[in-house]
Amino acid sequence: MVISNLLLPVDVLKGVGPARKKWLSKLGIETLQDLLWHFPRAYENRGDIKLLKDGAQGYQTSFALTVETAPRTVKLRGGIMLTTFRASDTSGSVEVVFFNQPYVSQQIVPHKSYRFWGRLKYKGGRWQMPSPQYDAIEPNTPLPDLVPRYPLCEGLTQKVLQGYIKDALARCLPFLEDVLDEDTRLQEKLPTLSKALMEVHFPTTAENLSSALRKMMFDELFCMGIGIALSKRSHKETLIPLYPQVDIRPFLEQLPFTLTNAQKRCVREIYHDMTGPNTKGAPMRRMLIGDVGSGKTVCAAAAAFVAVRAGKQVAIMVPTGILATQHYAEFSALFEGLGIRVALLTGHSTAREKQKVYQDLRGDGTHIDIIIGTHALLQKGVVFEDLGLVVTDEQHRFGIMQRANLQEKAECAHVLVMSATPIPRTLALVMYGDLALSKLDEMPPGRQRVDTFVVNHSYRERLHQFIQKQVDMGGQVYIVCPAIEGRIDEDELEEEELALSDFFGRKKESRPPLQNATDYAKKLAEDIFPNLRIALLHGQMKSAEKDLVMQSFSAGEIDILVSTTVIEVGVNVPNACLMIVENAERFGLSQLHQLRGRVGRGKKKSYCVLLSDSQGDAAKARLETMRTCYDGFSIAEQDLAQRGPGDFFASISDGGVRQSGGFSLKMASCLSDTTMMQKAFLEGKKLLEKDPFLTLPEHAFLAQRIRQLFTLEALTIS
Ligand code: ADP
Ligand code: MG
Repeated sequence: MVISNLLLPVDVLKGVGPARKKWLSKLGIETLQDLLWHFPRAYENRGDIKLLKDGAQGYQTSFALTVETAPRTVKLRGGIMLTTFRASDTSGSVEVVFFNQPYVSQQIVPHKSYRFWGRLKYKGGRWQMPSPQYDAIEPNTPLPDLVPRYPLCEGLTQKVLQGYIKDALARCLPFLEDVLDEDTRLQEKLPTLSKALMEVHFPTTAENLSSALRKMMFDELFCMGIGIALSKRSHKETLIPLYPQVDIRPFLEQLPFTLTNAQKRCVREIYHDMTGPNTKGAPMRRMLIGDVGSGKTVCAAAAAFVAVRAGKQVAIMVPTGILATQHYAEFSALFEGLGIRVALLTGHSTAREKQKVYQDLRGDGTHIDIIIGTHALLQKGVVFEDLGLVVTDEQHRFGIMQRANLQEKAECAHVLVMSATPIPRTLALVMYGDLALSKLDEMPPGRQRVDTFVVNHSYRERLHQFIQKQVDMGGQVYIVCPAIEGRIDEDELEEEELALSDFFGRKKESRPPLQNATDYAKKLAEDIFPNLRIALLHGQMKSAEKDLVMQSFSAGEIDILVSTTVIEVGVNVPNACLMIVENAERFGLSQLHQLRGRVGRGKKKSYCVLLSDSQGDAAKARLETMRTCYDGFSIAEQDLAQRGPGDFFASISDGGVRQSGGFSLKMASCLSDTTMMQKAFLEGKKLLEKDPFLTLPEHAFLAQRIRQLFTLEALTIS
């Protein structure tokens, strides 16, 4: 069968044995299709050949050089093998140096010309080029100008991976089917899938590559639109018995505060969805959006109360273990006096704890009313006795696919999704068009505005004094950095590389170097505040470690928490009063707004300092928005206007697992306006009108693609 060729496992390729198969699977690559959809994260612009005299020190540059001397390899002290030779062009000459690559001597032929891609370094009075990439210049085979850079992992090199992709293309190209019909494709001026895939992996020109990327993006959005439409449709069909008119006063009366008017309105809307006769049994599909601190939790708790009193179970899903633990504490307190049992399930519950929870949940033990957990709740072992309500908090952090998966489990349950990141209307309509909307547009009393400052590095001295002052006054400080360690991040592009978005005509802004959390925490602890308690928190730490740090911070045992954006989501430390964001230009507006919401949660006057040395106009405008605007909704709209929908796609896909079939929304993150998305969705709609269940033979590949994209389980070919 035609389609199955794409689904062949990677080890059908020459040279892929068990070890490499394992490495590839670390990148999410299991099949030939995964390989073909493993897109470069950037392209090196090697076609721009410079003369040696014009090469700037330290930047990756292309040079066309003739090898002057035969390579010589010597063994240095410490066992390092050093291979050197001289190479020159009309403007000068340079010493080319390789470490521990003695095979270079066999490949490099004296007096031949090569295209070198490397950095010039001035060392010991001489110009050197350490470990460049090189390709022989042959008279009749031009070298590609654009060379892809793939995301890699240990054990793989660019060349090896590209070799596999080449083989996979050869095997699959003859059989590739387009998800778009010919008319649509031509109307959108897009190349065929085969041509596009060739071009993405082996670009000929920047223009061709750019249409190829547009094609891949259009396909992705097209499939996404159809998948969303299908999943919406499937949910409209189930009806469930109405809940009884539960009296929720006992819940409200025991709260330590009275609800704001906005909360009352939202709770009423939720209540009507669950118990109102005019819903005719359609389960609730509601999104509750409200800025950080607007009090969403208590609304969710009210919904949970209604479900529990109706004799049902409630699942509350949150994106991180820390947040699950915190919600667990909050919910336990809220329901303590009401005889409602709350349980917790996270990825680092022990196997025994998990088994106990599974058992209790399906009704073979002590009854659980409310279970709070991470996406551990999505696992197969989790079976509910009688699930009535599913709540997901910080919705934007879950992938669309995870959401679809949860809804499958919740087929006959009410669904409430909560988000502090208001997704702009245009996007929300297409992605969450099936959800009714409740808005918390009022803050609980006593909420303060967090004063926000935008400063550059010249302010650092004063900032340190300010930190000291806040800590002296008993406050706690967050410092958020964009990177974990000093090494270049896998996704961090180098200055000379062309990002995918560059092929969509986005303007490039120069990027100041990154502050990294690890070094900064060390520097603060050793040199600047040896007297203060400083801790480090980042996403690569074990969950248990992270939770421990977060708990000590929350208990006031840490003065300064240096971290990456792991703290972005929902954690509540009322004593924290200063949020400092390093390289603020690197963050999205909504993300900055979330970070700012981590402080100002208690009585202490709170501040947010955004550090940035960016000279770019766009970055400056964004930070100015943060300084002057405090409303999450209008911040989101401005974010969309300034950066395009791509960043929202990026942010909704980042928390998610990588999907089989290569669907990662990575492409779509380059989207700079909503036009293409709307077109792709429209085309999807038209197609569904013609073939509502994708049963026509010409849609077989499309149907398969969409099945792949919208399920988390590994695919079995039927
Ligand atoms: P978010 O919307 O960010 O999830 P939370 O639900 O965590 O906000 O609420 C933030 C804080 O405000 C919590 O400490 C909560 O107890 C408190 N809170 C919520 N509603 C009210 C209210 N009506 N009056 C006073 N405090 C409230
Ligand atoms: Mg919350």
